[in-house]
Amino acid sequence: MRLRLLACLSLLAAAPAAAETVVVHAGRLITDASKPASGPSTITVTDGRITAVVAGLAPPPAGARLVDLSGKTVLPGLIDMHVHLSGDPGGDFRDETVDPNEWATLVGAKNARITALAGFTTVRDLGSSPLVGFALRRATAEGVIPGPRILSSGPAISTIGGHGDVSGFRPEVIRALAVDNTCTGPEQCAARVREFSRAGADLIKITATGGVLSQQARGLGQHFTDAEMKAIVDTAHALGLKVAAHAHSARGIEAAARAGVDSIEHGTFADSRAIAAMKASGSSLVPTLMAFTGIRERLGKGIYTPVVETKVRETLSEVGKAARAARAAGVPVVFGTDAAVFEHGRNAQELALLVDLAGMSPAEAIASATTGAARLLGMEREVGRIAPGYSADLIAVGGDPLRDVRALEHVDYVMVRGKAIQ
Ligand SMILES: [Zn+2]
Repeated sequence: MRLRLLACLSLLAAAPAAAETVVVHAGRLITDASKPASGPSTITVTDGRITAVVAGLAPPPAGARLVDLSGKTVLPGLIDMHVHLSGDPGGDFRDETVDPNEWATLVGAKNARITALAGFTTVRDLGSSPLVGFALRRATAEGVIPGPRILSSGPAISTIGGHGDVSGFRPEVIRALAVDNTCTGPEQCAARVREFSRAGADLIKITATGGVLSQQARGLGQHFTDAEMKAIVDTAHALGLKVAAHAHSARGIEAAARAGVDSIEHGTFADSRAIAAMKASGSSLVPTLMAFTGIRERLGKGIYTPVVETKVRETLSEVGKAARAARAAGVPVVFGTDAAVFEHGRNAQELALLVDLAGMSPAEAIASATTGAARLLGMEREVGRIAPGYSADLIAVGGDPLRDVRALEHVDYVMVRGKAIQ
């Protein structure tokens, strides 16, 4: 057996697979959202990685495939820091008792393709059934299904009985649905982080405060204690994992930031003290403005329970305020949508909201979804730019997204890791 393996290896060494070279002709090229676009350009991609970017439309070398985007603007693939691939909007909360993980995986595969076709070449999946996000991550990485690069947290870690724990059902149903994602006390919360790390999480997601869409009439205040969040963050960071904290109330945001979380997700009621704490700790804000668009579209239609509708009404007048204040204070505002609260594939509509509600320029909004997101991922030398050495993640659109970000709502071509998405 050992010998046979060695023989195979030597065969491979003797006849290496020929490098696959793809040449992309771009009519206009944005290599980095902070720089002006350049004119006609040629991008060379070898085995999924960008190897050259030159001015002009250079003919492809022999054996290379040409992707002709000479009538389009080509730019780095977009990054969404907050999606839930395995969910769709509008379902009844009781579906959780009926739909198995196998179903969630198939829904996730459908949404991975839709998300990539919408121009998103990397996403963070922040809360899916235990192993579903990891299976989707592997399936898109190995080309089993079309989709973006996925970084997955697995389920969110929650307090027992808090947002993110199963709620609204009979106790025996709750026990049957539990997925070991809850904890109480710093020690057990640290242990959960280690368990999630062992299971394959790329980062840790916590529900620092109450949430709008859970069946709980306990508001949107802080759920974890300060000590629990500190234990979670310290343990995660020691393991090389970042922490994303779902947080709505001002004091909950402040406490999560003080604990050192890398990003506040939603951040709805962030006040000046909360934003000062974020600035001091270096936490980013991922405002997920599209989540509120999705919620607004469903309000009053009998989709949400009365408990949820009450919480929705508290939040809708606040949408965009935290993002605007954070931006003014110099807190990084990073692109993320909460897709699943609205239909997957509409993710790019967040860009116009960042411009209209948060006061960003189009270039800034695009940077939040490319270079800014790459920085928060800790992948700023891998994704977010079109430059030699970077993963070949690029998209093409008509029009000029640096003038009107809505141009990115209709994406004509998507390449993830050198492969076209169809
Ligand atoms: Zn979410």
